[in-house]
Amino acid sequence: MKRTRIAVIAAAAALILGACGNAGEESKSPVDNKVDSNAASNFADGSRMKEIAEAGKVKIGVKFDQPGLGFKRAGVAVPTGLDVEMGKLIAAKLGIKATDVEWVETISDNREPFLQKGTVDFVLASYSITDDRRKVVGQAGPYYVTGQQLLVKKGSDIKNVADVKGKEVCSVTGSTSLVQVEAKGAKPRGFETYSQCRDQVLDGAVSAMTTDGSILLGYAAENPDELEVVGEPFSEERYGIGYNLDKPELCKFIVDTIKEAEDNGDWAKAFEATLGKSGVKTPTPPAMDACA
Ligand code: GLU
Repeated sequence: MKRTRIAVIAAAAALILGACGNAGEESKSPVDNKVDSNAASNFADGSRMKEIAEAGKVKIGVKFDQPGLGFKRAGVAVPTGLDVEMGKLIAAKLGIKATDVEWVETISDNREPFLQKGTVDFVLASYSITDDRRKVVGQAGPYYVTGQQLLVKKGSDIKNVADVKGKEVCSVTGSTSLVQVEAKGAKPRGFETYSQCRDQVLDGAVSAMTTDGSILLGYAAENPDELEVVGEPFSEERYGIGYNLDKPELCKFIVDTIKEAEDNGDWAKAFEATLGKSGVKTPTPPAMDACA
């Protein structure tokens, strides 16, 4: 029964890829018409929002290889996915069109240094809120909640997290996933990106890949004959939007922007156009944490 349900989800998730691989999707994005042409006048002098709005430039870090969340094909200007849609909403409030955003590829391990050094202004990259991360960067949110699962080769004897004890399981360095699977007794193998880790599973070099279910569904959908997502979620991952702690005013701005999108239906439209294409029902958006 469970296998059937997972197979149905995985097959439906194939739709994510069709949508994400289609450059035309950019123009159909539900949030593309939201750019505030008078943005700079809305913000206090000296605020980071005013600086960005006046400069008309913003750098947003997203994943480039996670279908449904952050995905970019070579030659396509604007990536696709739920994280990207949230980034577009923020840019629009700052008066900047999606095509004028500098979309910077971010991997799990460089999210904090990219924010601290100013390589990017915001990170939207399947970025779980944690107490440790909040000591070094700002994380506003959550705008989406998922949980850690396992991706295996079809027919694997790993059916759920209890089966990973003593097995080699890959994930990426700098992720919550690697730490959490080690705590479950697996031998952790860290890579830079999830696509490298997925290749290890396909080659049979490791027994499973682990990270957020929202990410794994995209990979299963790319290769439904060989790969499947198994087991129930064994963690809670609350996705936040990263910003530099020296600019605390960004927190309220981000929270207000996402809340407005939740209230006016843009959040739901963004979900339906991205992760929702997998057949996953549009959830009620999670309550956002208060800013400190
Ligand atoms: N959401 C988890 C994290 O932030 C795993 C996914 C990722 O590495 O981006 O660490």
